[in-house]
Amino acid sequence: MSQDELTAFVVQMNEPAYRGKQIFSALQNHRQLDINKLTELPKEFRGRLAETSVTSTLKTESRYISSDGTRRYLMKTHDNLPVETVFIPEERRDTICFSSQSGCPLQCDFCLTAKLGLLRTLTAGEIVEQVILALNDAYGEGTETPRGTNLVAMGAGEPMLAFDSLMKALRIMAEPKGLFIVPNRVTVSTAGIVPRILELAGIPDRPHLAVSLSAPTNELRNKLMPINKRWPLDELLDACKVFQESLKPGERFTFEYVMLDNVNDSDEHARQLANLLNRHGLQRAKVNLIPHNAAETLPYNASPFEQIESFKSILESKGVQAFVRRPRGRDIYAACGQLAARTTNNPTTQATLHAIN
Ligand code: SAH
Repeated sequence: MSQDELTAFVVQMNEPAYRGKQIFSALQNHRQLDINKLTELPKEFRGRLAETSVTSTLKTESRYISSDGTRRYLMKTHDNLPVETVFIPEERRDTICFSSQSGCPLQCDFCLTAKLGLLRTLTAGEIVEQVILALNDAYGEGTETPRGTNLVAMGAGEPMLAFDSLMKALRIMAEPKGLFIVPNRVTVSTAGIVPRILELAGIPDRPHLAVSLSAPTNELRNKLMPINKRWPLDELLDACKVFQESLKPGERFTFEYVMLDNVNDSDEHARQLANLLNRHGLQRAKVNLIPHNAAETLPYNASPFEQIESFKSILESKGVQAFVRRPRGRDIYAACGQLAARTTNNPTTQATLHAIN
């Protein structure tokens, strides 16, 4: 609940409105999810609250810690569906990667989450709680939230198909008396749901955008990302152009490109990609090249390092800014495209077997 909703909720329980603010601040600012510990509330009211409401619905089932410090949480919803969240410590700030759906309805051929299918879209509460639980695990309950935490909607699911939950969660997390993580610190990644990209472009206080492209032609993209049959490249890039017009000064947006060995990573693909972006006038986009994270059930390998570098320099020679993303948490199945509710007990062995780079 937002602070306003909580206020209405306590008023309807015949309590003064300021109690709504108190509870909101306890839950969202101090990340204190235990009602019994909200000692600023009268005991009698705490009792009634405990009977009528819950402050938490996710259960952390397992936690995996990578050799690079990345943490993956496998949680369960009240109806026993898997939710995964990844905490990525970085030198100056942390990034939390949250899921918007349990499973995913899109069938990207190179992604392990796709194998789950869609189980259910998450609620706003389930999105916010992922962030709270990850912060509590890293910093402890009741502590000050570190400033500058970044969020990415890049976990399981397609956030643009969880749009209402996502936008509500972002509003709640942005509240200054709560987590105070503003949309400017959030990046939403989409496989290309065109109407939602257009809608997002019209929202004044919106998160940043990343679009998963992964192929420079419709023929190849249809195969890798079937959503392309619904919204093919020209329509998608036209929508990106509209989004580009809505960027603030200095702001950019991102294309993600999963590098699949001998599939979409040739020098010719790089030239096609640069020409495609230039033809659509997308000068304010940058391209993140993501080495494929392999898994035994996925029919792809990561591109060799030299090929990724070659691809990058061709893009740059044609005026397209490109970066190579360093995989994080591969050894614990926490990297891009690896969230599939894995409960391996021996992540290190899995990593040795399957890490390519
Ligand atoms: N559904 C949204 C949000 C998921 S973001 C989207 O597709 O953008 C997850 C990112 O990981 C996407 O850019 C996706 O293309 C990428 N990805 C999927 N499988 C991968 C894999 N096996 N290796 C590397 N990246 C992968």
